[in-house]
Amino acid sequence: MTNLILLGPPGAGKGTQAKRLETKYGLVQLSTGDMLRAAVAAGTETGKQAKEIMERGDLVPDNIIIAMIAERIDQPDVSSGFILDGFPRTTAQAQALDGLLKFKGRKLDHVIELKVDDEALVERVSGRFSCAKCGASYHDSFNRPKKENVCDVCGATEFKRRADDNAETVRQRLSAYHAQTAPLLPYYEAQGILRSLDGMAEIDSITDSMEKVLG
Ligand code: ADP
Ligand code: ADP
Ligand code: ZN
Repeated sequence: MTNLILLGPPGAGKGTQAKRLETKYGLVQLSTGDMLRAAVAAGTETGKQAKEIMERGDLVPDNIIIAMIAERIDQPDVSSGFILDGFPRTTAQAQALDGLLKFKGRKLDHVIELKVDDEALVERVSGRFSCAKCGASYHDSFNRPKKENVCDVCGATEFKRRADDNAETVRQRLSAYHAQTAPLLPYYEAQGILRSLDGMAEIDSITDSMEKVLG
C-alpha cells in the first residue's frame, strides 16, 4: 500500500500523472478540485459555498475541504492506497491530514513536487480540456487525443473545459499557490518524504521518474 501526495501549482500535471499512476499501481486518485466541481454541479451545500470562491481562483475554506477529505478517505476503495491531487493546499490542511492518518494507523510514503515555471502554467491551463466521461486530461497544443475528438482512454467524444481555466483566474490561483501552498514544501522536506521533479519535462518522462520514486 502506497500513500502519495502530488504537490504543485495549477497546471503542473498532477491530474495527468495521477491518472497514470492510478492504473499502474492500483491506487485511488483523490482530487479535491474534482470533488468540489461535482458538488457545484450537484448543487449541494458545499457546492453552493465553493462556487464563487473557485470562480475567483481563491482557496475554499479549510474546514469544508478537511471535512470532505475525512469522509472520502474512510471509504473502502481507498484502503489499497491513495494519490492526493490538489490536497493539502495549506498548512492547516497538511496538519489535519497528518492527524487523520495517524488516527487510522496509516502514513504518507512520498510527497512528489512537480516544478513548472509560472509562464508555462498559464499556457498549460489556458489550453486544458478533459474527457467528459472519464476525466482524462488533454491540451490544445501539448497533448491532443491521438484521434481527433475521440478520448484515447475511453473512446468518448464529448469534452469539457473548466470555468476557472482562463488566463486571469490562473494568475490568482498561482498567487494563492505561492502564498498558501508553497510553505508545504519545507513542511514535508522536514519529514524527509519530499521529492522534487522537473515538471517541465515531457509527460512520459515525468511518469518514468515517478515510477522510480514509487519503486
Ligand atoms: P494539474 O492537475 O496539476 O492542474 P493537469 O494534469 O490538468 O494539471 O495538466 C494541465 C494541462 O497541461 C493539461 O492540459 C495537460 O494535458 C497538460 N500537461 C500536463 N503535463 C504536461 C507536460 N509535462 N508537458 C506539457 N503539457 C502538460
Ligand atoms: P488546479 O490543480 O488546476 O489548481 P484544482 O482542480 O485542484 O485545480 O482546484 C480548483 C479550485 O478548487 C481551486 O482553485 C480552489 O478554489 C478549489 N480547491 C481545490 N482543492 C482545494 C483545497 N485543497 N483547498 C482549498 N481549495 C481547493
Ligand atoms: Zn475518456
